Amino acid sequence: MERRRRVRFAPSPTGPLHMGGVRTALYNYLYAKQAGGDFILRIEDTDSQRFVPGAEEYIIESLRWCGIFPDEGVDENGKVVEVASERHPHAPYRQSQRRGIYRKYAEELVEKGYAYYAFDSTESLAALRAEAEAQKKTFTYNWETRGTLCNSLTLPTDEVARRLAETRDWTIRFKIPENRTVAMDDLIRGHIEVNSNTLDDKVLWKRADELPTYHLANIVDDHLMEITEVIRGEEWLPSLPLHYLLYEAFGWQDSQPRFAHLSLLLKPDGKGKLSKRDGDRLGFPVFPLRWVNAEGEVSRGYREDGYYPEAFVNMLAFLGWNPGTEQEIFSLDELVKVFSLERVVKSGARFNPDKAKWFNQEYLRMRPTAQLVADFRASEGARIAAFSDDYVGRVLDLMRERVHFPTEFREATSFFFEAPASYDEAAVAKFWKDDIPALIPQVREFIAGLDPFDKEHIETVEALIRENGWPMGKVMNTLRLFLVGKSVGPGVADMMAILGKDEVLKRIDKGITTLQ
Ligand code: GLU
Repeated sequence: MERRRRVRFAPSPTGPLHMGGVRTALYNYLYAKQAGGDFILRIEDTDSQRFVPGAEEYIIESLRWCGIFPDEGVDENGKVVEVASERHPHAPYRQSQRRGIYRKYAEELVEKGYAYYAFDSTESLAALRAEAEAQKKTFTYNWETRGTLCNSLTLPTDEVARRLAETRDWTIRFKIPENRTVAMDDLIRGHIEVNSNTLDDKVLWKRADELPTYHLANIVDDHLMEITEVIRGEEWLPSLPLHYLLYEAFGWQDSQPRFAHLSLLLKPDGKGKLSKRDGDRLGFPVFPLRWVNAEGEVSRGYREDGYYPEAFVNMLAFLGWNPGTEQEIFSLDELVKVFSLERVVKSGARFNPDKAKWFNQEYLRMRPTAQLVADFRASEGARIAAFSDDYVGRVLDLMRERVHFPTEFREATSFFFEAPASYDEAAVAKFWKDDIPALIPQVREFIAGLDPFDKEHIETVEALIRENGWPMGKVMNTLRLFLVGKSVGPGVADMMAILGKDEVLKRIDKGITTLQ
């Protein structure tokens, strides 16, 4: 029988989740949902030195903002599950709380001869590293050096037993087999082979803090949680041979997950990995949500920058994948239907900030008017409370073509909610001269006589100007100046139709009196 597909997103809470991490979570989620399987969240927090308070909450909140809800590992309140239940059978999902389970697996490998105890002190290893460095070499604990170091392969059995019982500064290291070809398959990269002599004897478990390292905890948990596919970032590809060897050593090859390593997100110029610094330099976020670190340094977030989560998710999906058609706009549910790992590209995905904005604008354009109005009311409160939904809706419908983000609405629409208090001086100097002060009252009278006051009738103002041979640009820009306060803004007839005749006449009169 086909196994139920189960994938996991396994972040380490070492800081805010980079948008590349969100993409990894998204691809896992899409894969699981398409297969009718499970998406699990597991927190890999065994490296206590790199633990950052708040990072775990940040990760979960980011996923929730994107509409990605794990089937297992997180409860309805967005908390990591600590107690097992039918829905969350593998709890706790935080590795630091699973610490008790890993030692026996590491010891099992020692018993079977796949691992050994290492007693080298931190200082002695540091000295070896320094010595090698002085000779422009790197020290590696591996097949070549382990026979000369302080471990259960070199010490007499009784001495090993004594040290295990009496000391705490020891670890369990994996014994990489000598000179073997490790053959691996990756769902995105295809077949890969590596000679085992290039690998080092990684630490699996540490007596000092009784904690596993990433490699051991990751393999053991993927096995226990019945993970069928591991979809993760390319930075883990160098660990893949070790992971294959670990599955083999445990005798778990039959249920070993398949692997897919996603390529990096690249800078907009394609040169190198996309970093927070690129975002700061070029003015775009690289994190889903705003983050303030312990030093008070602020990193901007897509959410706070005014992105719709739907647009962010859609944009992310396309960073390294495409549906093979021209269609670019996909909801999360639609992505679930069309996503496939086969169409994930091998090469790095170049991030394009303009495309990100484009996606947001597309979602802004598609948003139902009533929804736009509700969002705007929620952010503006009392400032627009006196205006009807119909009025606010017409304003936003007119202006949505001209902005990328709903956060731009406040400034872009302010003149619809408040008459200008002053007039841009440069514009006044440019347009309020020659015969304009004499003409405008005539235009005002014409406008006052329009009935009905809709866009079509208002546009006949242009015919009036033309028939009289008046300067079109100056007249129209003066009208715009009186309505907006500056010589920029949408079409004059569009604005007037929304503002209504009374308000338009009031603003023209005020303009005339102010500038005379
Ligand atoms: N904890 C690892 C990380 O932070 C997970 C790698 C994996 O998915 O195996 O990315």
